[in-house]
Amino acid sequence: MSTALVDDIKEIKEDNPFESMMSRFDRAAQLLNLDPDLYAVMRVPNRELKVYIPTRMDSGRIQVFEGFRVQHNFARGPAKGGIRYSPDVNIDEIRALAAWMTWKCAVVNVPFGGAKGGIICDPMQMSIGELERMTRRYASELLDFIGPEKDVPAPDMNTNEQTMAWIMDTYSMHARHTVNAVVTGKPIDLGGSRGRLEATGRGLLIVVTEAAKRFKMTPADTRVVVQGSGNVGGIAALLVHQAGFKVVGISDVHGGIYNPRGLEIPQALKHLEATRSFEGFGGAERVSNSELLELDCDVLIPAATENQITSSNAERLKCKVLAEGANGPTTAAADEILYRKGIFVIPDILANAGGVTVSYFEWVQDRMGYFWREDVVNERLQDTMVASFNDLCRYADAHSVDTRTAAYMLAIDRVAYDTRMRGIYA
Ligand code: GLU
Repeated sequence: MSTALVDDIKEIKEDNPFESMMSRFDRAAQLLNLDPDLYAVMRVPNRELKVYIPTRMDSGRIQVFEGFRVQHNFARGPAKGGIRYSPDVNIDEIRALAAWMTWKCAVVNVPFGGAKGGIICDPMQMSIGELERMTRRYASELLDFIGPEKDVPAPDMNTNEQTMAWIMDTYSMHARHTVNAVVTGKPIDLGGSRGRLEATGRGLLIVVTEAAKRFKMTPADTRVVVQGSGNVGGIAALLVHQAGFKVVGISDVHGGIYNPRGLEIPQALKHLEATRSFEGFGGAERVSNSELLELDCDVLIPAATENQITSSNAERLKCKVLAEGANGPTTAAADEILYRKGIFVIPDILANAGGVTVSYFEWVQDRMGYFWREDVVNERLQDTMVASFNDLCRYADAHSVDTRTAAYMLAIDRVAYDTRMRGIYA
């Protein structure tokens, strides 16, 4: 490994998720003493697609959107990862998210590589018809590159089971037969898996429960704060509340609410659904999203977006356990501060891996044409998450490293082994 890498680590731009990912990758690679040839292969994505997506808008005019699909790694199986719609999408973000999918699948040992896609658009300002036409045209641009054996998309920010149904249908129309294993996170009636919608939140519940056991904290005395109330944060908050944890704070994009005695999460989420805001929810104090992260609590679950915990606010965090529901909520520059403060980090590539784990189960069920009961899905998810949590803690102890570094080392080691065994085709 060249010493230039060490200098690069110091110069990272804090809010660039790709640089955050790479600095952790470099650190783990150095600690593993990764062979320089393998390092050269693994530090770059396999393929990056950029597509232009002409879409007829309701006005009758054509708007051309820009989209991406980065296929980061195929060493362990088909590439796997979500598609997000947002005005903030950019290639560096998608590149980082694709790599995180590779490491995430390796941490929980599911036989996939990693990918991510995105379209630069503002889905809140688009009609259902516009979203459908944009999605189908994007899917048609990706036809040669996706497929059950190639790359299997899934939902991510601002995409859902409807988006997946459109992609599956577009792909199937071209294949001239129904191919449900081309995407996961589909509606259950179209070959989706029971338990997939809740899987990321349920995975968080499982790792938070394991961490609580490790620190001898009982659920009733464990105060939890959740940033975000979408498919990840909302469901995680509900499930930890149902499991007897005391959720004292929760937020959405506009801000949050706090009650040190605990919030009635089902009612708070109903209020959010009905009024599109936590504003006016009784018996709780309003807090901003940045105040929310600094609340006094035992477990903090950032489940919104990237770059929420940075070198500017990490010092003020008061949690004992940080369970990362979002991808990349913590910048690499904040890692060291958290470590120094003794905060136990359950890194994103483990903490939010429940989603892709049940995506794997969905893909398996589609290929068998035989669908499992929800309790079977949940039990297998529990087994995977608990085993992966224990593997990670053991690995961190054995190598005397923090849990984030351990997760990267574990993942890189697994991908490196498979890459070495397959060899380089030439
Ligand atoms: N978008 C989710 C993630 O970031 C799920 C990906 C998948 O299931 O393929 O993990």
